[in-house]
Amino acid sequence: MNVLVINCGSSSLKYQLIDSETEAVLAKGLCERIGIDGRLVYQKAGCDKEITEAAMPTHKEAIQMVLHALVNEKTGAIKSLDEVGAIGHRVVHGGEKFAASAVITDEMIKTVEECNDLAPLHNPANLIGIRVCAELMPHVPQVGVFDTAFHQTMPPKAYLYGLPLDYYKKYKIRRYGFHGTSHSYVSKHAIQFLGLDPDNSKVIVCHLGNGSSISAVQNGKCIDTTMGLTPLEGVIMGTRSGSIDPAIVEFIAKKENLDIAGVMNVLNKKSGLLGMSGISSDMRDLEDAAAEGNEDAKNAREALAYGIAKYVGGYVAAMNGVDAIIFTAGIGENDNLVREDICSYFKYLGVAIDLEANKKRGEDIVISTPDSKVKVAVIPTNEELAICRDTVALVK
Ligand code: AMP
Repeated sequence: MNVLVINCGSSSLKYQLIDSETEAVLAKGLCERIGIDGRLVYQKAGCDKEITEAAMPTHKEAIQMVLHALVNEKTGAIKSLDEVGAIGHRVVHGGEKFAASAVITDEMIKTVEECNDLAPLHNPANLIGIRVCAELMPHVPQVGVFDTAFHQTMPPKAYLYGLPLDYYKKYKIRRYGFHGTSHSYVSKHAIQFLGLDPDNSKVIVCHLGNGSSISAVQNGKCIDTTMGLTPLEGVIMGTRSGSIDPAIVEFIAKKENLDIAGVMNVLNKKSGLLGMSGISSDMRDLEDAAAEGNEDAKNAREALAYGIAKYVGGYVAAMNGVDAIIFTAGIGENDNLVREDICSYFKYLGVAIDLEANKKRGEDIVISTPDSKVKVAVIPTNEELAICRDTVALVK
């Protein structure tokens, strides 16, 4: 079955058409600047990227353009839309309502809408994609795959904040966690790849990208994760501060004469690696700057690694041990120096890194030495494939 995977943002849309039997990507791309002007990037497997500038006033035109591109006579990946067996949508927030992916029905859409408050930028955009696909391809089953679902197995001691309990009861303020599709895919793959016992395994997944989160996965189930009510909590990220003293919010507001929205903008968009270095949110730029002797870039990189090591250490305690530490996403998969720095904090656990193996890229790779007490590996994440697999499992 061919599955169309859609990840709808407020002004953009990423898509992949995947053959679920071979798991090959038949075509992929994105629509950008929806509602502004419009740009379609389309790439059939084995071919060059095609870029088309065209008006996309709404997501409807964007999805129409994607569907046209998929069946284009010359460059289409399929002959007819009848060859699309199902559509899988990324949905950011499923609140406490969804602990797993779900077939999209009117009822399910209503339930997702109830979670809009928790992800006001993302969920409405995800729902637009779902509604447009239902309108354009009414007979094709659709599935919603939630960023939060994998983390729903966390116990109360991990998801409750030290706030009045009423706020949890009334407003559902609690830790939800994000990147769940990636944490689920990577932890399952790690158990297989490293030959661990699925029912007796302790895995820590470090998803380190522009947004970063870490999860503790015991016997295949998430028991804790660093992101919280929103994706702002946890480790230092590209432009996000991660966890800070909450009193800093009021302090900045007074000193900089900002309202709450102004401070939140600083914490989400002007902090993290960008704010600390004053250079860039991209680790590659910071690596170059640090190599040239820029102290701020060096400190930002070290603070990121140190903060990650502290969370990983905490999760070792939470699980009373660890079998494997896994790195994934843009930084996790590519920045061998940061991996080395993070792992340098785990000598007490008997972690030993093979520096040559750690330099390899682009594949599942064990970067610990054979006698390391804990296995350390790099496993490229593949959220689209995970969405495709869940979609097929639910519609078959
Ligand atoms: P992601 O959000 O998973 O796409 O990750 C994006 C981030 O990965 C970028 O902002 C970079 O900081 C980082 N990244 C990508 N390639 C490299 C690389 N070769 N070395 C270091 N960092 C990288």
